[in-house]
Amino acid sequence: FTNAIVGALVALSIIALVLSLVNIEDVTLPPTVKYGMVFDAGSSHTSLFVYEWDSDKENDTGVVSQTLSCEVQGQGISSYANDPPKAGDSLRECLDKALKVVPAAKQRDVPAYLGATAGMRLLREQNSSVADQVLAEVAKTMREYPVAFKGAQILTGEEEGAYGWITINYLLDSFTKYSPKAHTWVRPEAANILGALDLGGASTQISFMPRDSVINWNDASKFMLYGYNYNIYTHSYLCYGQNEMLKRLAKELIEDLHTRIDHPCYPKDYNETISLSSFRTSPCTNQSDPRLIHGDRNVTLEGRGNASGCLAAVQKLFNFSACGQSQDCTFDGVSQPPVSGQFIAFSAFYYNFEFLNLTEGQSLATVRKTIKHFCTRSWEDVRAPQWENPERLPKYCANANYILTLLLDAYKFNETSWNNIFFQMKAGRADIGWTLGYMLNLTNMIPAEAPVRMKGHVP
Ligand code: AMP
Repeated sequence: FTNAIVGALVALSIIALVLSLVNIEDVTLPPTVKYGMVFDAGSSHTSLFVYEWDSDKENDTGVVSQTLSCEVQGQGISSYANDPPKAGDSLRECLDKALKVVPAAKQRDVPAYLGATAGMRLLREQNSSVADQVLAEVAKTMREYPVAFKGAQILTGEEEGAYGWITINYLLDSFTKYSPKAHTWVRPEAANILGALDLGGASTQISFMPRDSVINWNDASKFMLYGYNYNIYTHSYLCYGQNEMLKRLAKELIEDLHTRIDHPCYPKDYNETISLSSFRTSPCTNQSDPRLIHGDRNVTLEGRGNASGCLAAVQKLFNFSACGQSQDCTFDGVSQPPVSGQFIAFSAFYYNFEFLNLTEGQSLATVRKTIKHFCTRSWEDVRAPQWENPERLPKYCANANYILTLLLDAYKFNETSWNNIFFQMKAGRADIGWTLGYMLNLTNMIPAEAPVRMKGHVP
């Protein structure tokens, strides 16, 4: 027994000696990489983004990078309204890919989100229980995977806009930046804060910090980020996404009982046949309209390649007169402070302008000329580049005129402020969109207070 006590005492003294030799406080652990994933369930398609960052830099700005982006095959989740389990199944391929880039030991800690946008907002408007079923099915699938599922939900338009704004400014270090010289965090000039312009399939968002921060706008969002307050204006227009706009345009062109209709925006010699019943599938086009009561009759849209006719037809989709004489008003009576600062225009703003080679900072005059010229080209000429998706080709003229109308007539960019719009899809180490801002917010990675330099691994 005495031997046992002596043995224990010896063991304890050895442990004490070892502990005294190692100063625990000074031990610096190597950084561990953390991961997160977000599905962007848009109206026309779904993408999965996997992000990674060093755990010891979690609260710094601009340190998250994109590990993977995966395009889900098929249409957006709202298109599975008649078969919700298929919405869940559609995600599997990308989830499998995501698990290949995250080490097995870390998978269970990966926060996994799905955010749905305007396509699901519209489905909820039409049939909220079906929208719930679709969300339940995607959640069910995600729960089957060894990740930390955190939820599948529909974002409001304002959340979508605000998270896009956060993503851009986070990636470009506009909120706060560590100055190695001053050994402290500095706030870059407020003028460096960028605005966000997002054109999706079913809605479009504008978000920016107005020059006068006096906030009496209805669409104000307040954030406390890295020790500073930001008052931003953000507005989302449902039914003003690109695909819903094209449908509204076709509907406006269709005249009573005619079966062949001139379409000024489609190229000459291009025809498209649509069924009137397709207008009933969306709340953006299903309002009772005498032209729609003629059952499921087909109508052929005949391209006319008429640039000015196209612009005029697109402008009719906006109710500008609802603004009266007010300058601080876009259309439909929506108020908006004057645009100020630089903007990044992404998603369909970028896709269309990239196709037209207009993302290099061209002047407004050049942009107008290029669009006008493109709109007058014949179908034979337009479809020559074989690499381009043939379904998209006939639509670039309408899309481009729509973008011009939205930016100039609605948001009121002018010849000068036009040069402050940058058409781009990537910033730093990631794609631009709402998903990164959403994940940063939900994982509390953007602190309200200014970050402190923590003791630990310095690369
Ligand atoms: P999303 O960002 O997926 O919501 O898509 C926004 C809109 O861009 C949708 O109307 C898509 O149909 C459209 N879109 C996607 N890729 C392209 C492209 N390469 N050219 C033109 N439009 C596109």
